[in-house]
Amino acid sequence: MSRNKSRALFAQAARCMVGGVNSPVRAYKAVGGTPVFIRSARGSGIVDADRNRYVDYVMSWGAMILGHAHPGIVRAIQQAAESGTSFGAPTAQETALCRALSRAVPSMQKIRLVNSGTEATMSALRLSRGFTGKNRIVKFEGCYHGHSDSLLVKAGSGALTLGVPDSAGVPACVSRDTIVCPYNDSDALARVIKARHKEIACVIVEPVAANMGLILPDVSFLSAVRELTARYRIVLIFDEVITGFRFTFGGVQQLFGIAPDLTCLGKIIGGGLPLAAYGGSAEIMDRLAPLGPVYQAGTLSGNPVAVSAGLAALAALEKADYVRLNETTADLCDGMEAILRMFNLHFCLNRAGSVFTLFFTQRPVRDFVTAKTSDPKAYARFFWTMLEEGIHLPPSQFEGNFLSFAHTPADIQRTLKAFSKAVAPFAKSRCRCRG
Ligand SMILES: *Cc1c(COP(=O)(O)O)cnc(C)c1O
Repeated sequence: MSRNKSRALFAQAARCMVGGVNSPVRAYKAVGGTPVFIRSARGSGIVDADRNRYVDYVMSWGAMILGHAHPGIVRAIQQAAESGTSFGAPTAQETALCRALSRAVPSMQKIRLVNSGTEATMSALRLSRGFTGKNRIVKFEGCYHGHSDSLLVKAGSGALTLGVPDSAGVPACVSRDTIVCPYNDSDALARVIKARHKEIACVIVEPVAANMGLILPDVSFLSAVRELTARYRIVLIFDEVITGFRFTFGGVQQLFGIAPDLTCLGKIIGGGLPLAAYGGSAEIMDRLAPLGPVYQAGTLSGNPVAVSAGLAALAALEKADYVRLNETTADLCDGMEAILRMFNLHFCLNRAGSVFTLFFTQRPVRDFVTAKTSDPKAYARFFWTMLEEGIHLPPSQFEGNFLSFAHTPADIQRTLKAFSKAVAPFAKSRCRCRG
């Protein structure tokens, strides 16, 4: 498989873009080599600059749950664009989208649309601080909530891959107000909250963690988080930027039966365009300008093209068969487990619905510390064999693999064939070690 065109495009890109990319993980630092440049995509398939075809499991980090170039979304974008691409004034479609989001995620009584997940979480923090009059926030180790200053402390995703959990340029006086607790450890959270609840404005959590690889929450952990925050009048923010509309039509909060005070959405709700949202009870949301004293604004917020794409995405998702999507993913993961057993390999495969991560460690992965026991060199070898076999995976161990409604049983078979080839060397190298 030749990737000469991608290599040349990357060399050109590196001269005018930092690291040749507009978001760090795309630069392939975690797996070595140079990135694949994308030419086009449709359904579950992606085509690179050299016209190699891959089954895609990046899916724009989960945003493309309906598959690439979904006809309903493409049509909505074309029609919206012909009526003007930005007004800086309200439209009826924004109301339609926010009503649809409220219906799907009932804890979001009132909503504000923004352009990225980062903006949603950053604004939800400011609102929590403005609402409670307190400054400190609690986040969990390895959870990623975008790149705003307060949240770039012990963060996951690209920040984790690069080994710079604390970014330069974040003033110590800002990160000092961020308290970090281990994921899935409600005792640690209880200790922190009991000692400092008078200073804590909010607790923000990924209800299913998907930015240190995929990690499932203990149900008792999430219910303890809800119980503690309610008892001490601390705002609970569920960052559902990945989990929203991923497992069901709505938030993962409905599946767990836990309602947060504020919810952040992104990725899927924009149908592949830059769109995100945050929302919650009217009591909290009405503290925002223009009704309240907490300021937050955006020239392109509620952009008509993005909103139309979001509406089309929600319309398609409302009719979509999530049970089948989860079954397709289970088939793939069962197949991978069977291959691992055949080779007598004991890597940890975590799955929730249509997301999974294979960790190159023998330990069960349930938090940041156990995620870090995974061998990044092993992941890099695995990644390159899969790519060579036509399977496009995230170029980092610490990300989720995402299926879409467009992934077919034929894709699964092709992926399993590649998987056999990619993990076989690990069985062999272990035999050599034993002599
Ligand atoms: C992707 C992500 C964000 C950030 O969203 P951007 O649109 O990249 O700014 C925030 N939180 C979670 C859980 C995410 O997965």
